Amino acid sequence: VDNFSTASTSITGESTLVYQEASRRVQKEKGIRVINFGIGQPDLPTFRKIRNAAIKALDEGFTGYTSAYGIDELREKIASHLNSRYPSERPIKKEEVIVTPGAKTALYLAFLLYVNPGDEVIIFDPSFYSYAEVVKMLGGKPVYIKMRWTEENGFSLNVNELQEKITPKTKMIVLNNPHNPTGMVFDPREIEKVMEIAKERKVILLSDEIYDYFVYDGKMRSVLEDPSWRDYVIYVNGFSKTFSMTGWRLGYIVAKDKVVKKMAELAANIYTCPTSFAQKGALAAFDSLDDVKDMISLFRRRRDVMYEELKKNKWIRVYKSQGAFYMFPYVGDILAKTKMQVKDFSLKMIEEAGVTTIPGEVFPLEVGRNFLRLSFAVDENDIREGVRKINEFVTGLM
Ligand code: PLP
Repeated sequence: VDNFSTASTSITGESTLVYQEASRRVQKEKGIRVINFGIGQPDLPTFRKIRNAAIKALDEGFTGYTSAYGIDELREKIASHLNSRYPSERPIKKEEVIVTPGAKTALYLAFLLYVNPGDEVIIFDPSFYSYAEVVKMLGGKPVYIKMRWTEENGFSLNVNELQEKITPKTKMIVLNNPHNPTGMVFDPREIEKVMEIAKERKVILLSDEIYDYFVYDGKMRSVLEDPSWRDYVIYVNGFSKTFSMTGWRLGYIVAKDKVVKKMAELAANIYTCPTSFAQKGALAAFDSLDDVKDMISLFRRRRDVMYEELKKNKWIRVYKSQGAFYMFPYVGDILAKTKMQVKDFSLKMIEEAGVTTIPGEVFPLEVGRNFLRLSFAVDENDIREGVRKINEFVTGLM
């Protein structure tokens, strides 16, 4: 049983779990309440209409397998929702939508469909850790583009490097907007440039827009706004974040019909179908957009509070995030002065300050080594108290 496959040993196993476990341990051993800025999900219950629809489906016995594509009504709802958001002369059809058990599975299907051993996949650093891990699992090679950061403007995609990084082996570029872990909503011109390059160089653009409703400032450009998206785009989104449905495991892909068909064949052999009654619940999701709006207002306020509190710390440099629910402050000055690695800094903070954050290098490489990720999907009072504790802890170290 110890003789693991190459696929499983190629991954680092590094994820946010380590820090969640450390905070659970400290909580238990010290009998204190640890304030958790490590979480990657909204703290609200799934909206009422959605829960009711799923309960009804269960009561009515909608508990069998569904099509590997997901149920037709949901595929149609997703298509019509996106068509009203991004009107086009050639609207999205249900044949261009596949429902998956979470966006993570959607991403997995996309990589599985395109990445052969030796293929290169371009990933911006920092990024959601799972992209690179799955690419490695499939024998592919993540090729990183380091994003640039300034306190005034936050991160930029550094698009100039993209042309140089594309080789004959490049299969895909992964884009995530709004962005985990940095909280950036990228400049529409930068997104357009990435789209142009992908199209021109015939590289697939895998666009993860799971935080598309979490935009506080600025304008988000979706890849679906390009009328020719079918030629090069695999679009990923999901219900987890927008409708506070992380445990329901529901995501989706939009791609041209031939691609979606191929994905359904893979899906049928891996997981059969997304959960039946959860899909019925999701049918009510797009009728809950008022609840989503309220949640975004709440999160905007929390973001403002977290930013103001972090600004009080003269050792921390922070750009006010515009999207998702993460703040990604620069802590390089503290690390240099204390000669600490960011992972140790984060673990020490859990241990001594009772506050959980995620060290930036989980995402997944170099750029994050000077940053911490703090989620503001947390009660406002806890944000005030947690950041105050961080500030005291930092002062104590310096
Ligand atoms: N993509 C990004 C950028 C994420 O941050 C997450 C969740 O943390 C996911 C995808 C996965 O979402 P799901 O719960 O739908 O699998």
